[in-house]
Amino acid sequence: MNRSNPINRRQFLGAMVAASASLPLLRMQSVNAGELPHVGGDDPMAQALGYVADAAAIDPAKTHGYKTGSRCSSCALYRGNASDAFGPCATFPGKAVSKDGWCMAYAARG
Ligand code: SF4
Repeated sequence: MNRSNPINRRQFLGAMVAASASLPLLRMQSVNAGELPHVGGDDPMAQALGYVADAAAIDPAKTHGYKTGSRCSSCALYRGNASDAFGPCATFPGKAVSKDGWCMAYAARG
């Protein structure tokens, strides 16, 4: 039978305490969404999904799936505040998208 080593258990508990102490810092990062880096044109995911920061510049005739008036602020995946110019998006973890942007993953809020 394999008995647990008390030193390893102590180290494990110490690591858990340290990890739980960092959770408030992670929450603060999500609250300060305005400090997230903006998704840029060089982002591979943005390129794959045709993300643009200004949906008004999209030509609906040339962009498959785009419906006039669609934008990030009306997308179900957008997590920004209405008053902010940029906000987090579930498609681009750790980054912020323009509230006036758009990409092919757009899903209208129900
Ligand atoms: S998934 Fe929605 S919120 Fe995110 S970039 Fe695309 S359109 Fe904007």
